[in-house]
Amino acid sequence: MLPAIVKWRRGAGEVRELMKILVVEDDAVSRFMTVKALEQLGFGCTATSDGQEAWERLSTTRYDLVISDWMMPHVDGIELCRRIRAEEHRGYTYFVILTALAEREFRLTGMRAGADDYLAKPLDREELLLRLIAAERVTRLHRKLEDQALELERLNREFFESGRKDPLTGVANRRRMQEDLAAFELALRDAPRGVDGHALSVALFDIDHFKRYNDTYLHTSGDEVLRRVASVLSRHIGDHEGFYRYGGEEFLAVIRAPHTLAIAKADLMRRDVESCAIPHEANPDTRFITISAGVAPIDASGEVSFLEAIRAADEALLRAKREGRNRIVAAAFDAPPAAGTVRH
Ligand code: GH3
Ligand code: MG
Ligand code: MG
Ligand code: MG
Repeated sequence: MLPAIVKWRRGAGEVRELMKILVVEDDAVSRFMTVKALEQLGFGCTATSDGQEAWERLSTTRYDLVISDWMMPHVDGIELCRRIRAEEHRGYTYFVILTALAEREFRLTGMRAGADDYLAKPLDREELLLRLIAAERVTRLHRKLEDQALELERLNREFFESGRKDPLTGVANRRRMQEDLAAFELALRDAPRGVDGHALSVALFDIDHFKRYNDTYLHTSGDEVLRRVASVLSRHIGDHEGFYRYGGEEFLAVIRAPHTLAIAKADLMRRDVESCAIPHEANPDTRFITISAGVAPIDASGEVSFLEAIRAADEALLRAKREGRNRIVAAAFDAPPAAGTVRH
């Protein structure tokens, strides 16, 4: 005898009843008999009186087993079965067609329409039990396959994400950056040029005198500083912007703002790191951890690609280093805005 309710563990601790059963039968007496027979075998069910109503229920509730009459007005058992099979991506539903049409060719039609099994009227309780056993076995197998597919999907996602994340700082890595930049470029191509909301700039940040920090405080403390700086900087990054570990102690930000505002934002980010007041005795300028950055616009001339902008930001960063560090330098372009330094 099958247990009345088999509990089934699924996914992240979700517990569901195995074998949620839907009975579809237009004839009231037959419906009553089927429900009664199921109850006697220890199964609860939902009963509906026509195919259309069953189909509506199936669109909101998942049933494991449908026991359906064949001959019904509007949507008959075969049509119901076909509709269920067409929606199989929602999960497998075991389908038993119940009918007085016991002839061989009708059985074949039912099975070809996608029915898993066939029960002849008048309903025999032992025959019903055999179908329930088969249905339970197949349902269990399908659930297991679904769980495995979900787990595989989760692992795939995890693998995909971990391949795009810098393990030290937890921010996106260069691989993610390449993909995002391509997407940014595509979006820019469609966006109206010169409209502020679509203006992008890149800022290349670099920690000042970081080699000396490692030499003074050891590499592990240097790692901690990298994590801290990454966390402080990434707090400024909004939706539709980007932040990446570009190199050893270099971070690249894609800032969604016109050039002058992007420079101001980069300077705010710089000041945020400075205000952390992380001691760096070997930094001859401030005795604290500071950063410098070069900022370049993507849309200054309408022609500047990310690659060119990054190169320009890198040159500006070099100037920031030469000019004394702990500052932001704007890239020089033929087109305005002109190059300039934000001094602290
Ligand atoms: P500057 O102000 O001109 O940028 O000087 P700098 O010393 O920061 O520049 P340099 O390029 O000479 O040195 C970069 C240092 O960053 C050297 C390297 O050991 C350190 N670094 C790069 N990646 C990591 C990392 O993952 N962890 C730690 N602790 N240090 C790193
Ligand atoms: Mg009927
Ligand atoms: Mg560097
Ligand atoms: Mg550096």
